[in-house]
Amino acid sequence: MPISPPSHQNPQRARPGSLARMSDVRVRFCPSPTGNPHVGMVRTALFNWAYAKHTGGTFVFRIEDTDTARDSETSYRQLLDALRWLGMTWDEGPEVGGPHEPYRQSQRMDFYRDVAQRLLDAGYAYRCYCTPEELEEQREAQKAAGRTPGYNGRCRTLSAHDEAALRAEGRQPAIRFRMPGTDFTWDDLVRGPLTFAAEHVPDYVIVRASGEPLYTLTNPCDDADMEITHVLRGEDLLSSTPRQIALYQALAAIGVGNGTTPRFGHLPYVMGEGNKKLSKRDPESSLQMYRDEGFVPEGLLNYLALLGWSIGDDRDFFSMDELAQAFDVADVNANPARFDLKKCTAINAAWIRQLAIDDLASRLEQYLIADGSLPEKPTHEQRALLASAVPLVQERMETLRQGVHMLSFLFAHDEGVLSEASVGTPAFRRDGADEAAVLTPEARPVLEAARNVVASLEDWSHAAIEAALRAAIVDGLGMKPKVAFGPIRVAVSGRRVSPPLFESIELLGRERTLARLDSALA
Ligand code: GLU
Ligand code: ZN
Repeated sequence: MPISPPSHQNPQRARPGSLARMSDVRVRFCPSPTGNPHVGMVRTALFNWAYAKHTGGTFVFRIEDTDTARDSETSYRQLLDALRWLGMTWDEGPEVGGPHEPYRQSQRMDFYRDVAQRLLDAGYAYRCYCTPEELEEQREAQKAAGRTPGYNGRCRTLSAHDEAALRAEGRQPAIRFRMPGTDFTWDDLVRGPLTFAAEHVPDYVIVRASGEPLYTLTNPCDDADMEITHVLRGEDLLSSTPRQIALYQALAAIGVGNGTTPRFGHLPYVMGEGNKKLSKRDPESSLQMYRDEGFVPEGLLNYLALLGWSIGDDRDFFSMDELAQAFDVADVNANPARFDLKKCTAINAAWIRQLAIDDLASRLEQYLIADGSLPEKPTHEQRALLASAVPLVQERMETLRQGVHMLSFLFAHDEGVLSEASVGTPAFRRDGADEAAVLTPEARPVLEAARNVVASLEDWSHAAIEAALRAAIVDGLGMKPKVAFGPIRVAVSGRRVSPPLFESIELLGRERTLARLDSALA
């Protein structure tokens, strides 16, 4: 079961608030709600968010849900939840509203239909009656002739009479944008000046024969209407840019938007294992995986910011505030970035180490609840126990899940700790051998000696517990500490790896420790 808690239970974190809105910069994050949010998407959202914060601009969140076959409500909810969990609040968008409502494309269909009609009327677009088979034939013929495959312009100049004849054959037209036939150059914010030759950018479909408007139309229409000034998005969309610039010019001519074309910046690819592009299917690309494992949002975002950007001076560790202060899209590196899970984990661990104890405790509490180790509403005693245990593990965990793993024994039933220990510790119980190796018949004298010490000790402090146990077992029974304390640790915590043993016993208290030793002896 996934153990990450819902985001609304997460502690409120400080957000950059010092940068007042003071510029006309408007950026957008506009995912399609298909599948689970992935880290590539988060990196794109983050750079847009940071640029908006840096410039005092506006971060627009838009949902591109025009593909009814692939979009889902679940995925839509996950996207909102993901941004909220990450602390990337949006200035305009779903549930927040704004001057360009609605922010879900599925609710803007009338607008696209109207724009398509106006583009047709003004001659910027035309109806194309070619069937998929005919288009395929065209492509084959072009390839055979050694030319770049692409629409050949066959329907560009049909007369009303031609159109009527084609309709009479039962053909339904798509709507195609008429490219102006010029080369396209723009000064990419990340990659510098780029040019696409006219012949590589043929006329393209903006509305399907079914009447469904496509990304090619809806995305630039909304960017124009929402007065987006900077488009920062993945390099995979580079080839759409010349088409979109051409469409922008047409939109300006028919009065959609304020007539300016945004600047474009294409963020570098993120490479995974084996220098292949990180794919949505790679487990390390799933945002949910990081939530389940207990990455803290600050740690994950800190790492993702390093994919194509750096704060300078070999610094790897910085806050969202510092990112917002320093981030400029002009500093994004065009070279592919390599995703390194080890480094991501190390940065997360560094973040966990510097959280305040009560902050870390309340985050761990959510995970312990989700895990079933704590009840939905922990008692005052349980909370106090957790707060005093957190300093013992703060330096020892890379993720909250590891913290849960080390601390859940504190909240287990004293009689059940051995079997409960099997949950999440495959090395411990699933192969059986581990527990047996530690809790062997030879361990009995150790546990009995420990029981005597615990029962009679007067000063209940970890130092006294340690001294007494060492005297009774290491000196008394002549055993090596490593061998001697293994069975006690397993009996008390159910784990072979736990927070420091003597501190754990102190926290657990005399009665609970005795109950656990007794149940191991039994
Ligand atoms: N909905 C598009 C996507 O998720 C947006 C692309 C863009 O940023 O232009 O790929
Ligand atoms: Zn055609």
